[in-house]
Amino acid sequence: MLDIRIEYTKNPAKKPEAGQPLGFGKIFTDHMFVMNYTEGKGWHDPRVVPYQNLSLAPSAMVFHYGQEMFEGLKAYKGTDGRPYLFRPDMNAKRTNVTNRRLCIPEIPEEDFVQAVKAVVSVDKDWIPSDPGTSLYVRPFIIATDAFLGVAPSKTYLFLIILSPSGAYYESGLAPVGIWIEDEFVRAVRGGIGFAKTGGNYAASLIAQVKAHDQGFSQVLWLDGVERKYIEEVGSMNIFFKINGRIVTPALSGSILPGITRDSVLTLCRDWGYETEERRISVDELLEAQRTGALEECFGTGTAAVISPVGKLRYENEVMTINGGKIGPLSHRLYDTVTGIQTGAVADPYGNWHVCAEE
Ligand SMILES: *Cc1c(COP(=O)(O)O)cnc(C)c1O
Repeated sequence: MLDIRIEYTKNPAKKPEAGQPLGFGKIFTDHMFVMNYTEGKGWHDPRVVPYQNLSLAPSAMVFHYGQEMFEGLKAYKGTDGRPYLFRPDMNAKRTNVTNRRLCIPEIPEEDFVQAVKAVVSVDKDWIPSDPGTSLYVRPFIIATDAFLGVAPSKTYLFLIILSPSGAYYESGLAPVGIWIEDEFVRAVRGGIGFAKTGGNYAASLIAQVKAHDQGFSQVLWLDGVERKYIEEVGSMNIFFKINGRIVTPALSGSILPGITRDSVLTLCRDWGYETEERRISVDELLEAQRTGALEECFGTGTAAVISPVGKLRYENEVMTINGGKIGPLSHRLYDTVTGIQTGAVADPYGNWHVCAEE
């Protein structure tokens, strides 16, 4: 149990008005959570303080070798007006998976969840209430030693910042066009693809720019060795409905284990679908498309929840899926997951819809 000190801001900022477009990640709340790590002392001085700039040495290790990690989850205003989180224990577990890979000291799961709850509770009035909106929660850890040697840092900062965010789709759940990248790769097994860390994103920007230039909104990555098997989308996992079965790439070590992915697999199994976590080649997809077996395709991630895919482009072929429209399963999943998040749909699992106030 952390003993969290709270220092309230003396200059609260003006909160966005109802109906105001929020976008994503542009507005920040009045407070943030901070905790230090020092070798020999462990994690210490947990506190909620006014949102403010950091002061770091230009030699701080994070700037040079990228020793950092991040998480992403959302807080929602429940139907009862209280603040709720979606499966925060899963973010806590994944934090330590990432930390172990990057030689960052672990944070006890219950401390991570307590820290998220504490800062969300302080800024709960910042949770927007228009349909589809939420308070995006961004925990992250940076290496802070002032040292240019290549080694794990001996000091770190753990921070949590909060950002009121708009509905991902301003004009409703709209299918996106996706570019299957056959030149650049994101991750290989044995690398850091399964870890939630900035380095994966730095490596992905070039393909993202290329896809945008061609009129596609996201990149779908292929495996880094044969460039033949489907991995995942920029910040989402990917699902296909083929001949009635739900198919998604297996967690092979180069794919981020999404919490939305896990939630969708759980729901689909409980709804009686056969689910398959396995390798899927681009050739299999093209074939399924030709024979009409490819019924739906959607991405899953915290930001969009469910993102229907209307179009997939691979080299000279463009596959249009379900006539470019949202499929019924994508729709049902979106309604169910967002419903559980806000409390409009009863949580069938008991620990998915978690109140942020203790
Ligand atoms: C965060 C992330 C996801 C989605 O994970 P969720 O836990 O569902 O939000 C998928 N892929 C990558 C690369 C990510 O960083």
